[in-house]
Amino acid sequence: MTDLNDYREQFAAFAAATDRQPVVLVDMDDVLVDYGTALYERFITDNPGHPIKRPDERDSFDLFGGETDDHKARLFEAMNHPDLYASLKPLPGAFDALHQMIDLGINVRVCTAPWATNPTCASQKLTQLEELGGKFFANRAIISKDKTFVFGDLLIDDRSGVTGAMPPAWKQLLFTQPHNRLDFDLPRLNGWTNWQDTVLPMLAGILTDKAAVTA
Ligand SMILES: [Mg+2]
Repeated sequence: MTDLNDYREQFAAFAAATDRQPVVLVDMDDVLVDYGTALYERFITDNPGHPIKRPDERDSFDLFGGETDDHKARLFEAMNHPDLYASLKPLPGAFDALHQMIDLGINVRVCTAPWATNPTCASQKLTQLEELGGKFFANRAIISKDKTFVFGDLLIDDRSGVTGAMPPAWKQLLFTQPHNRLDFDLPRLNGWTNWQDTVLPMLAGILTDKAAVTA
């Protein structure tokens, strides 16, 4: 177990030297809430008897790869269902971890990409965030299709190799899910239990590097 007070002191020293707190961006779907299960249940409710991989059978972030046009159309409909994002359940320990990060002096922002063709996606994400984590997280959420435009030190995300139009200011920590099991390139966070042992040393290393560059 790491000494949390050492990290608290390092983060405070960083904030004093740079006029900003360390920033951790946290993805929402399949990091804070269980998108994979909600989508699976939506699909089998609307398409009884039609086969679909369970979330733990997936080995790719891409839900459409190698599927028939018929399956893709059914899947697309499930992904666009107006009740989908209101049905997402929190992943165990997720919001407790965010509160603990804040307590250590980290500026935590939920950073989530909208599914553009679902008309209620963005609004229901904010409603869900408020229900599950309180107004604090809903009011500070960042909804961006391209996360490389969003400033941060660390991004916790289940999508293998988040990229975009900009060189990102953050480094990615891959939140382990079955669909990213074939990614061997990124450091991983294997669930929210004992998150401190993975997130804090990585964040501390990033801040040390940034402080050296600006010194
Ligand atoms: Mg995600």
